[in-house]
Amino acid sequence: MDHPPSTFSTGCPMSHKIAVYPGSFDPITYGHMDIIERGLEVFDEIIIAVARNSEKKGNLFTIAERITLIEESIGADSRLQVDTFDGLLVDYVVSRQAKVILRGLRAVSDFEYEFQIAQMNRNLKPEVETLFMMTSVPYGYLSSSIVKEVACLHAPVEALVPPAVQKALQEKFS
Ligand code: ADP
Repeated sequence: MDHPPSTFSTGCPMSHKIAVYPGSFDPITYGHMDIIERGLEVFDEIIIAVARNSEKKGNLFTIAERITLIEESIGADSRLQVDTFDGLLVDYVVSRQAKVILRGLRAVSDFEYEFQIAQMNRNLKPEVETLFMMTSVPYGYLSSSIVKEVACLHAPVEALVPPAVQKALQEKFS
């Protein structure tokens, strides 16, 4: 006889795996999208979470603009949500009934910082796991910062960012 799936207190089937993919996304690039696409092979649902505390000097896009650009880039997919968070990431992760923080790793230079943050998050909330995905080779040196520098100099960015972001960059730097 078939049994109904066990559930958490939230009513979510136990097998429903949710990851939070946090970042500044200023703006979203094909490197981020590659992690999201590959993440969907592992998780049932990914919450792309824009850090509100990343709204500081040096960012090009407001939080609202970044959210719009993410939404336009990922299109309609019921497995993806875009949200923002304030304060401690691990508290946000738990509040969304997720157990995993998804992060991308590019060069070795990412490792030191990511390692520190992951250790700190584990100390704060041991039940939240950080999972790293290695970048895909074409995006190994792609970052939002590089994209902004290149776009500022009016160099082509169509290989680096989705069309919506390309257009927004053109408008910012026109
Ligand atoms: P943060 O400001 O938290 O570093 P980012 O928006 O720069 O946020 O990046 C969010 C996450 O996406 C980070 O884990 C970062 O390492 C990852 N990431 C960004 N670009 C790439 C890329 N080209 N390949 C793989 N991971 C990436």
